[in-house]
Amino acid sequence: MTSKLHLETGRVPGLPNLHSHAFQRAMAGLTERRGSQSDSFWTWREQMYRFVERLTPDDLEAIAACAYMEMLEAGFTWVAEFHYLHHQPDGRPYDNVAEMSERIVAAAADVGIGLTLLPVLYRQSGFGGQPPSLSQRRFLNDRDSYARIMETRVPGGCIGIAPHSLRAVTLDDLRWAATTWRGQPAHIHVSEQTREVDDCLAAHGRRPIDLLMDTVEIDEHWCLVHATHADAGERARIAKAKAVVGLCPITEANLGDGLFDVPDFLAQQGRFGVGSDSNVRVSAADELRTLEYGQRLIHRQRNVLGDASRSTGRRLFEAALAGGAQAVGSEATDDIVSLDAGNWRDDAVLDHWLFAADNAAIVSVERGGTRLVEQGRHRHRERLAARYKKTLSRLLA
Ligand code: ZN
Repeated sequence: MTSKLHLETGRVPGLPNLHSHAFQRAMAGLTERRGSQSDSFWTWREQMYRFVERLTPDDLEAIAACAYMEMLEAGFTWVAEFHYLHHQPDGRPYDNVAEMSERIVAAAADVGIGLTLLPVLYRQSGFGGQPPSLSQRRFLNDRDSYARIMETRVPGGCIGIAPHSLRAVTLDDLRWAATTWRGQPAHIHVSEQTREVDDCLAAHGRRPIDLLMDTVEIDEHWCLVHATHADAGERARIAKAKAVVGLCPITEANLGDGLFDVPDFLAQQGRFGVGSDSNVRVSAADELRTLEYGQRLIHRQRNVLGDASRSTGRRLFEAALAGGAQAVGSEATDDIVSLDAGNWRDDAVLDHWLFAADNAAIVSVERGGTRLVEQGRHRHRERLAARYKKTLSRLLA
């Protein structure tokens, strides 16, 4: 990063949010009731699929604009949108196959956040070519329709590929996408769930990250989202490849995924960034704090991710800034978050934000000289929040 921290004035670069599914913002708080069986990622996914069936292009744009507004208010100035809701509820493409992608672009432009659009390639429901389920039909593309969606223009931002997961694409599709768009950002969900590791071992005789790295050339353009259950050998391979691990601590905690071994990965100069993923809560500070607290709880120590040269908050922030910029494919050096630096000095300005005040520490946010957030509120909050409220009341009726 060429941007510097100016802690004496409280000015720091905006943090990239490397993994978001914007529409899931509208489900926040609606899945916190235990069902008859034990709840897991997989039961949550069923609820998410039911919710998705109702969303129109207008709904998607309204929800995404609200989520992106909250991201700016929370110190995220760039978002990588892992976008898989492509088609009509019955699975037929809209007249414009990129309709939903263009709604994401429009929402980001309206709000003023930087965007890396990651159209998702989704072909099957499980390892070994299992046919997709009815509830996945809005996500599916063949190579031709996917290539057309990849032509979506993202003014001021960029576009990259997102093979959904090793469950959802064949190895042939993975190789095709990786070679066709080589050099652009490439993101994939991998090793989030132990069941995925077991299924991958059963189908291919290899663990997911080993399989991924044996299939395509993983380099610094890749972001491996979650990687929660990577073993020591897989973590060493990711670090050596200089790829970024996309950690989503709040969502991973909410879904009960598990904990990535961050200390081991950092000891190997591993690179990571953070993402708000399900957007159940939108806060750059909370993502970094939850990341550190997960490690404190499991190791029964304090400042697990800190080092001797700087505070823990500063180390987390600088690592997530560099890793996030690499993963989204943009340094966005004109993005500035101004923090309340009142009573704090040096690294304590960051630590106060990340560990104590959370979003309340954010005074203003600007991009390219334009002030988008003032006194913690987005300049279009009233309009965007009113539209979101209307959308939600119809969806939840
Ligand atoms: Zn995700």
